[in-house]
Amino acid sequence: MQDSFVHKGKRRNLVDYLRRSIGICDESVLAAINEVPRHLFIESIFEDYAYEDRAFPIAAHQTISHPSTVAEQSELLEIKEGEKVLEIGTGCGYQTAVLIAMKALVYTVERQKDLFDFSKKKLREMNLYPKFQSFGDGFAGLPTFAPFDKIIVTCGASVLPTELLKQLKVSGKMVIPLGPTDQQVLYRFTKISPTEFEKEEFGTYKFVPMLNNTNQ
Ligand code: SAH
Repeated sequence: MQDSFVHKGKRRNLVDYLRRSIGICDESVLAAINEVPRHLFIESIFEDYAYEDRAFPIAAHQTISHPSTVAEQSELLEIKEGEKVLEIGTGCGYQTAVLIAMKALVYTVERQKDLFDFSKKKLREMNLYPKFQSFGDGFAGLPTFAPFDKIIVTCGASVLPTELLKQLKVSGKMVIPLGPTDQQVLYRFTKISPTEFEKEEFGTYKFVPMLNNTNQ
């Protein structure tokens, strides 16, 4: 599959929609979404709809998030060039690619082997290089590479993964959906001291669940 003028045009329309209808204003998020060919991360049968604000099934019964969700989570992270970002839930690698396009140093963890393999191959094909890509359980984070400036969790956690908060720098931010499987609230935690956090709420979403352990 190629990245044609048609795809590029549809991406520009998606960016206009994210700016006007969703209210995304971080220009680095919008530029990254304009740059990353989302249709290359999903099955070709969905190609015509890749730039609509829709989620699609990917391998292992998981989903690629809506572009608006990717944009909102990315904006809430307030990423600056060169920051270390830990992503939990690589999935197909689209959000990873957006973070790399925003010039973050991305460390990403996926618990499904199929998706770990898929995203690794896909990102390499597109010449996009995360700093580190791990097959593992995101509840543990990546202690070897901690602390991180930012953490993004792309699956819904029923309990707060406290290990991740420990791996955040003071003044760092973590964006995470929390709640039961049918609906979660998107939160942003800002670490204001080694033991204190500010917590903000950003509406309800439905993410795939954050699960323990790994799945071969
Ligand atoms: N950012 C992804 C979204 C994928 S959906 C994308 O753009 O495609 C969320 C992903 O989180 C799924 O792939 C799921 O397998 C993964 N996940 C769930 N629990 C996890 C855990 N404990 N550790 C790592 N990944 C997890």
